[in-house]
Formats: sequence, structure tokens, C-alpha cells
Amino acid sequence: MSKSSTALIFALIIGIAVLAVVCAASFWTFNNKSDSTDDAVEDSEEINAVPVAAIPDDAVTMDELSVPAAYAADDVPKDVDEEPDEPLLIEPDAYVPAIPDEIPVTEIRLTTYDVSLYEGESKMPIVTMYPENAADKGEIWTTSDEQVASVDGLGLIKAVGIGKCTVTVTSVSSPDVKADVAVEVKERVYVPVEDISLSTYEVTLYAGSSKMPIVTMYPKNAADKSEIWTTSDDGVATVDSLGRITAVSEGNCTVTVTSADSPEVRAEVSVSVIPTQEAQGITYINGILVVNKTYALPSDYNPGVNSEAKSALDEMFEAAKNDGISLWVVSGFRSYETQKGLYNRYVNRDGKAEADRYSARPGHSEHQTGLAFDLNNASSSFAGTPEAKWIENNCYKYGFIVRYPSGKESITGFMYEPWHVRYLGKETAQTVYDSGLTLEEYLGIDSKYAE
Ligand SMILES: [Zn+2]
Repeated sequence: MSKSSTALIFALIIGIAVLAVVCAASFWTFNNKSDSTDDAVEDSEEINAVPVAAIPDDAVTMDELSVPAAYAADDVPKDVDEEPDEPLLIEPDAYVPAIPDEIPVTEIRLTTYDVSLYEGESKMPIVTMYPENAADKGEIWTTSDEQVASVDGLGLIKAVGIGKCTVTVTSVSSPDVKADVAVEVKERVYVPVEDISLSTYEVTLYAGSSKMPIVTMYPKNAADKSEIWTTSDDGVATVDSLGRITAVSEGNCTVTVTSADSPEVRAEVSVSVIPTQEAQGITYINGILVVNKTYALPSDYNPGVNSEAKSALDEMFEAAKNDGISLWVVSGFRSYETQKGLYNRYVNRDGKAEADRYSARPGHSEHQTGLAFDLNNASSSFAGTPEAKWIENNCYKYGFIVRYPSGKESITGFMYEPWHVRYLGKETAQTVYDSGLTLEEYLGIDSKYAE
């Protein structure tokens, strides 16, 4: 080979080598561009990591910040040690907003400055601090004598022992501003029960019937008039917490009322219970004295007006009056003899069949029980009056039922009598009223004359 051809071949090899290097370089560049997204993410993270001082001035305006810039700079990650381009030269104090001078409490007023308590009682005066826009209205309560009265953080004064002391409330922010409450704790004057009197000390009851003596405790201003009722034999008669004595079966027992306050003060009721069978045909069913065309009373059964029924009636009249309704009695207790005369008059006037619809034969009148009353106007014209409606809707609240309701003549044996009420006691009257039944239906009994 000549020198010149050798040089040419060498130049060719160099040229190919250079070409290869160029090609490889451009391929590497292409591949790198396909990863450009990841690089962008890394770039933005790098920007975030730049300290606040390096962020252009217009990005964070100090005036607009509620927190001084010096504090904002604290939020910047601390792991960046790079020296800021412009060092943070802010004086923090220069950017703290001016706090107005605190408005101090100048006066304390109370709803009361004199408190008189019995031992064990407590009272909390209401505090007002002035001026109303005072910055700190905190209160400190103190007492001059814990043995007389204590006070808690809210100003609740508790009477501890007899004596006098001063309770003081002081302003937390202005300790020279205070208000005093003069506290006097007095001995509680306790009036004990000394005597008990009863409206009756002897009762005779048929099994199933009940009676409630009225209790009066003396002196009238006794502090605690609570009653405790007991019976010596609840097989003979029971007594409830209000003193209602209910006859159970034949026998005698003693019912006692004791003062809860003074247990040595008591009163006793002698109770005699007569069984129904021996009560000359008087019928109690479920404790209810029953009188209708089937069940009669003996001719000598002559109890007069029942006092409990009468008080209930008075209570009802008072309630009616409050509703603008005037009620009064036209006929209450009637003896066997009175009923006999009445019935015979009606028979003479209207005939027996007609009289039996509205007037009971002697011994079969509920009026002979002393538990029934005719109100206002015992005639058919009473039906539908405001008074009749009030009685129908309200009498059960006082222990009465309208005994002969409309449309029930075949069951009760008597025509509609909106004026005739029968006392059953509040509980039973409520139950019968709620049932919507006549007394005959409620007890499951008939009302038909034997002949
Ligand atoms: Zn009647």
C-alpha cells in the first residue's frame, strides 16, 4: 500500500468512529426526553423547598399577613440550609398589631348585699361587672368565716353554721375592686306535730267498700305533716298511703295514722267489717255498691248523703264554675220511705210501665245509697244543654259517672238521665268512663225486676 492510501483508510475509520459517537449521543438524548414528566415533578419540589426569603417580594406581602412574616418564615422546612439570596431582615415587633390597652373592671354590683339563710340553705347573688366592655370579668369569691358560710367559685353561698360573716367577690384583673355580701345564718325554727285529729274514729264497712277519714295535724304550722298509715290486720281491712280504708272480710281491726315527723303522735280508727251476705242483701261487686232493678237495698238502709261523695261533688261544682258552668243539686239522698212515696205518685200519674222507665221502685233507687245526685233539671229538656255536656265530659274527673247514658235503657233499666250522676271514686269512675260501658256492662250484671 502507498502512504497516501493508508492515510485515506485511516481518515475513513476516524470518520466512521465520529459518526457512531454522534448517533449514540442523539439516541441518549431522545431517551432522556421521554422521562421529562418525572423531571418536572422533581423540579417543582425543588421550588417548594426554596426558603421564603428567596421567593420574590410580590409573592408574600407582609402587610396582608395577619401573622408577622417572621412567624411565617418558621413554617418553612428547616432542612434547607441554603443561604437565602436576601437575608430575612424583618424586625418581628414592627409587625405585631397594636393591642388596645385592656379595659379594667371598675365596679362590681350584686343583686343582693344581704343574705339571710337557715342552716343548710344556699343562695347565689348575681354579679355584674362594670364597665360592660371590661376585658377580664373573672371573679374570686371568699368568705370571712367558713364555719358560718362557704362560697364556691361561682358565688354559691351555703349556710354552714349559725352566725354572721362576709362573703366577698373580687375582680381577678382589678383586685382592688370588690363587693361584700353580709351573710347571716339563723337557726331553723322547727315546729313538730303535736296532735292528730280524725273526722271519724269508728267505721263499719261492708266487705269491698271503703272509707277515708279526714286527718288534721296540729299545730297548723307544723313543719312536716306527712302521714303513715298502717292496719293491724290487712285480712280484715287494708289502708293506703292516703288513709283510704278498704274492707276485705268480716272482722275487726285497727287502722293507725302516725305522724312521720313525731312517731309518738298517732290516732286510731276501729274498723268493723261486715260480710256482704250478712249485710241484709246489700250487694258489693268489685267493691262497688250496686243498686239497680236486680239489686235492691233493705228498707232500713238509711246512710244519708255520703260525705266523700258530697266533697267530690263540691269539687266538681267548683271546677264547673271555673268553666262558666253553674251546677246544683235538685235531689240527693232519698230514704226508702221517700222513694216509696215518689214512685207511687208516678205510678198514679203515668201508670206502672211508664213510671218504671224513669223512677225506681222503693229499695231499687241509687239515691238511697247516698252516692247519687240529680243535678240542675231532672227532665228530658236538660239533654244537650251546655251543663249536661259538661257533666258528661268531666264528671269522671271528680269520681262520678252519668249512670244512665243515652241508648242504654235496655241495659241499665232506666231511660237516659243526663242529670243523674253516681259517685264511684275517681279511680273507678275514670276506668268506667274510659271503658265506654254502663256500670251494668262494666260489672257484667243485669238490671231487671224479678216480677
Ligand atoms: Zn236520680
